[in-house]
Amino acid sequence: MRLKDERKAIVEYGKKMITANLTTGSGGNLSVYNRAENLVAIKPSGVDYFEMKPADVVVVSLDGQIVEGDLQPSSEIRFHLALLQHRQDINAVVHTHQVYATTIACMNWELPAVHYLVGFSGNKVPLAKYATFGSQELSDEILAAIGSYNACLMANHGIVTVGKDIGSAFATAEELELVSRLYYQAKCIGEPVILSDKEMETIGEKFQTYGQRK
Ligand code: 13P
Ligand code: ZN
Repeated sequence: MRLKDERKAIVEYGKKMITANLTTGSGGNLSVYNRAENLVAIKPSGVDYFEMKPADVVVVSLDGQIVEGDLQPSSEIRFHLALLQHRQDINAVVHTHQVYATTIACMNWELPAVHYLVGFSGNKVPLAKYATFGSQELSDEILAAIGSYNACLMANHGIVTVGKDIGSAFATAEELELVSRLYYQAKCIGEPVILSDKEMETIGEKFQTYGQRK
């Protein structure tokens, strides 16, 4: 079986998407790119996360040919592959319907720097224009909006996050749910104060050395 570890990661993080309340049902999807093998492991379409086995995960080439797998790959395979092709700095893509981030996306707003943790994306989370799920147009809109950010809201749909590995793409989704909730709540009682681009630049630098030195 090709990409054994990546298949396991898709199953593990798929379950985490449900337990962390980042999606419901079979909504959302995730992929991991193995650059050495030039192959991508991606969630099968419409499969319950708690029934998914590593063998159900689909292995595809960067141009979307199925290399291994009996099930159909995620309907969002287009934007997963487009992001992995265009961003040399990433190896994983996570897409969820998490409630607070999607609330902001339903307003067709960007998420500004209302809290320093928006730094998981950059100085904000940009917004991709609405397009039908699974469409080439949606993939094009996401690619145009995300630039070098690590996340992008999807109008009237959800959010997509990217990272050097699946753990960091997942963590970005989780932290941005907190920031989205704070933005929603702050908007309920007034007009939140937004951190400057200069401060967010400082946060970006501090994130490089945050935590335990390796
Ligand atoms: P898949 O089950 O095909 O991955 O689709 C879920 C989804 O969220 C579509 O945007
Ligand atoms: Zn979706």
